[in-house]
Amino acid sequence: MKYLLIISHCILNTASKVAMDEGELKEEYEKRDRLIRCVMENNIQLLQLPCPEFIIYGSRRWGHVKEQFMHPHYYEECRKMLYPVLQQIEEYVRYPEEYQVAGIVSVEGSPSCGYHMTCSGNWGGELSGDAGAIKEMQNTCKTVNGPGVFMEILEKELAARAMTFPIMSMEEAVQKLSGIKRNERKED
Ligand code: SF4
Repeated sequence: MKYLLIISHCILNTASKVAMDEGELKEEYEKRDRLIRCVMENNIQLLQLPCPEFIIYGSRRWGHVKEQFMHPHYYEECRKMLYPVLQQIEEYVRYPEEYQVAGIVSVEGSPSCGYHMTCSGNWGGELSGDAGAIKEMQNTCKTVNGPGVFMEILEKELAARAMTFPIMSMEEAVQKLSGIKRNERKED
């Protein structure tokens, strides 16, 4: 049996992330290291999702909040880039005796790939000039419960194809993968 994990793009490729002081990502990178080590140790196969923000907005984008991605073009582009991935998943699912999809790994807090937590706020418009207005907008930005746009669409598209998998944070994925291997050892 091969176990597959469907993984958000930047967990494997941090070059796709919004440019920022990487020191601020220390905690996230530690979780990522633990997950990748767990994947390697347990011989889990990875299917990497596309990075919607890098594809649509490129490497020079600013950090966004979810509301800025909630528009028809972003939705449509997400659906289009997910289409070939969904077809691959469907193919694996056809042979449950050979492949098992263990779940999908989110990037918590992301306006696109968060699942339990995303980033929300009244952020947008012309940024030059009025420092007070910028501060006011920044103060509205916060982490809230709920999925980012890309994970929301992925979940809906899977459901439309009668497929459902757990969508997990990196920590939850480590727990899940360790459990799979423990159970396998018990069955041996
Ligand atoms: S859009 Fe998703 S994959 Fe891309 S950088 Fe953000 S969290 Fe990572």
